[in-house]
Amino acid sequence: CGITACLRAEGSLEPILTGLKRLEYRGYDSAGLAVVNDNRIGLVKQAGEVDLLSKLVESKDIEGTVGIGHTRWSTHGPPTDLNAHPHTDERGSVAVVHNGIIDNYAALKSHLERRGHRFASDTDTEVIPHLIEEELDQGASNMEAFRAAISVLDGTYAVAAVFSDEHAIYATRHGSPLVFGEGDDEWFVASDVPAFVEYTNRVRYLHDGDYIYISADGFEITDADGDAVDRPLEEIDWDP
Ligand code: GLU
Repeated sequence: CGITACLRAEGSLEPILTGLKRLEYRGYDSAGLAVVNDNRIGLVKQAGEVDLLSKLVESKDIEGTVGIGHTRWSTHGPPTDLNAHPHTDERGSVAVVHNGIIDNYAALKSHLERRGHRFASDTDTEVIPHLIEEELDQGASNMEAFRAAISVLDGTYAVAAVFSDEHAIYATRHGSPLVFGEGDDEWFVASDVPAFVEYTNRVRYLHDGDYIYISADGFEITDADGDAVDRPLEEIDWDP
């Protein structure tokens, strides 16, 4: 189970796949990724190994400057292609990867189903994109929708999301690890440093409750209230 996310002008696909490979040591049963291009989210995911995912990606001809990736260790729903992350809302406006467990997902899921949402997977995670979609439908911005969805979750999570209409990464954590990697005009978020250490050794460790927003203009780290927080920049001495 591991998360990786990348924003990089040269393309995010290669760093995401490299990151997933480097997170293999954490154990997993499925792998997947999503990249944003031309106001669309390109999604590739399946049960099985990262090498198989890489082959599948090659056959798809997708790319994007921003994207997210995931290696899954199933807790809710068996390791199938449909249960692999990322998960999306029904119209594909947001894609989400999650490491951890959403304790109150059953109540959230039945609430959303009563409001007409149809779920594609058995995972706890899938409530997150549907919660975000619900907020977007009520006129929330991407940032407002992301924060509102996270605020109703109980449990442990590191979450990263991309939206089809924005070249940006949204991520937060509560009880699961998340590290920010700061390169030169390339930025990374991951469960652990090895995911991006081939690209940068400058990291900021995020704390529980931190939110990070990354766009081509840079990044900002805030708390649950939206106030800026400063996490020290550390240089890691770590051979890839
Ligand atoms: N609970 C989620 C699932 O079962 C995420 C598991 C993980 O951390 O990989 O899909």
